[in-house]
Amino acid sequence: MRAFDAVGIYFGRAADQMDLTENMRRLLLTPKREVQVQVAIERDNGELATYIGFRVQHDHSRGPMKGGLRYHPDVDLDEVRSLASLMTWKTAVVNIPYGGAKGGIAVDTTTLSRRELERLTRKFIDQIHDMIGPDIDIPAPDMGTNAEVMAWIRNQYEKYHGFNPACVTGKPVELHGSAGREEATGRGVGILTLKLLSRLGRKPQDTRVAIQGFGNVGSHTAAFLGQAEIPVVAVSDISGGYYRADGLNVSHILNYARDHGDCLAGYSEAEKISNEQLLELDVEMLIPAALGGVISVDNAPRIKAPIIVEAANGPIWPDADEMLEQRGVTILPDILANAGGVTASYFEWAQNRQHYQWGLNRVRQELDRVLSESFQQVWELSVERKLSLRTAAYILGIGRVGRATVLGGIT
Ligand code: NAD
Repeated sequence: MRAFDAVGIYFGRAADQMDLTENMRRLLLTPKREVQVQVAIERDNGELATYIGFRVQHDHSRGPMKGGLRYHPDVDLDEVRSLASLMTWKTAVVNIPYGGAKGGIAVDTTTLSRRELERLTRKFIDQIHDMIGPDIDIPAPDMGTNAEVMAWIRNQYEKYHGFNPACVTGKPVELHGSAGREEATGRGVGILTLKLLSRLGRKPQDTRVAIQGFGNVGSHTAAFLGQAEIPVVAVSDISGGYYRADGLNVSHILNYARDHGDCLAGYSEAEKISNEQLLELDVEMLIPAALGGVISVDNAPRIKAPIIVEAANGPIWPDADEMLEQRGVTILPDILANAGGVTASYFEWAQNRQHYQWGLNRVRQELDRVLSESFQQVWELSVERKLSLRTAAYILGIGRVGRATVLGGIT
């Protein structure tokens, strides 16, 4: 199965419940524009290197398109297309005035120096600057990119279009970024986890959690859950998993990662396990917060956690999702679970356009409000229609996009 098929299948399950016509389904699923560009740079040693960059603009019926930029060797058009469509439903589920887009470059960033990464980013923007912008399509960080990369994007974009901080979000706070943006995806995962536990009648302190991925999303999720006194028993990154049955010392492991180049390799205060073992731990909650497609029909039968919160985009393949749903596993879907990031990006964009900065408390309060309202709507729809949280979230998102499309006039 290809990545785009996965989002298409989830879309289809919801569309069946909504009795959408075939034509409407095709209209809503087909991306508006797809661009693939060659990005050539000179390496530090004078050699030439070429990479392929992508930007897919899926839908703009509810506002400018919004979506992250991923730097990873596995990036291809199919994956970017799938993630762009996911962004359309995500921005609609949390009801912020955006459409969906996504981009990426197929590159292993560990093979590049900082200067090479900057050259690559600037060359990519040279190629796509005329198809992005604050009223058109606004990139943001995703796997392999960060605030520094966003700062280069803004600077390069402004060389063509003049002062325009709202052309990209996830910027450093010193360069028109927003307080609370960096933590927002993980914080949002934490806020929604607490809401979910409350609805399920589970005590947070009795919910042992395993988190796969300790980058931006995984580490901020761990920090939030640790502060909420939820026992985080395992975390992992590319170097493997780290497990402690009676709970990890979250602040200790956060400090360790910070002091070791954001990497957990060598952490010795926990038992070393593999990433595969982490997914199959006997815990109450699993939070995949790294790559997509990590839970398939092969390992789904061995997943023991009764609750899965999808902090990563697309961590569960649809056939595994069906298997888990039949077993009664509660899954909080990516289009809601990790929507805190794009919500705080929206706050950053709004601040940039107002030329007025919000304080951290305001950002956190607004984030809590938006996510709580969205969670309540998704939860109520799922209870009322006896549907999974995923199908309920898709119905909410597709309904909003569909109405905007029809109201705006299709032809
Ligand atoms: P990141 O690059 O900051 O961190 C990724 C983490 O995954 C790192 O700890 C890395 O070591 C780990 N990792 C990489 N390959 C792995 C492997 N094979 N096995 C286990 N771990 C591995 O990325 P991020 O921004 O934290 O994004 C993580 C996920 O969350 C992605 O699916 C992304 O699309 C999604 N997401 C991110 C944001 C955001 O604001 N950053 C928002 C929404 C969704």
